[in-house]
Amino acid sequence: MTALNPSAKETLRSYGVTAAEWRRHHWGPEVTTWHGDTCGCPDDRCINHHHEEHEECRCLPVLLQQYAVQREAGPRCQCAPPDVASPCSGPMDAARLVNPLGYELTGCVPHAAKVLENWRPSGRVYPGSVESAAIDVFNLAHGRTS
Ligand SMILES: [Zn+2]
Ligand SMILES: [Zn+2]
Ligand SMILES: [Zn+2]
Repeated sequence: MTALNPSAKETLRSYGVTAAEWRRHHWGPEVTTWHGDTCGCPDDRCINHHHEEHEECRCLPVLLQQYAVQREAGPRCQCAPPDVASPCSGPMDAARLVNPLGYELTGCVPHAAKVLENWRPSGRVYPGSVESAAIDVFNLAHGRTS
């Protein structure tokens, strides 16, 4: 069992996140002890692996930034960018994307189009809950307006 060190608590505070909230975010409401490393990283082998003992944790600010964005944006589709609080538009499973490795994501049309753009030229898009979504995503990703 570990506890958060003072600088981890300080960093959490600067993002307006309590230690209890941070713990629940990773392990749910049933867990009452911190299972990560003392620096605030949910990986219990962060110190000496992700960074040196005397260094500031590099994981915590990044994770907190993403958490803050997600908290502000609310529930979003799997294609939503983790670092930008842009809301979904339309059903969150309108389209289904499959990358060349067979990795699948569902998403709303604008977010799926952004991901497909990054996966070009070999990503594929299929309709999800919306029949026409695949075409809309394809056109958006390729800079065409329908
Ligand atoms: Zn870490
Ligand atoms: Zn760390
Ligand atoms: Zn979305």
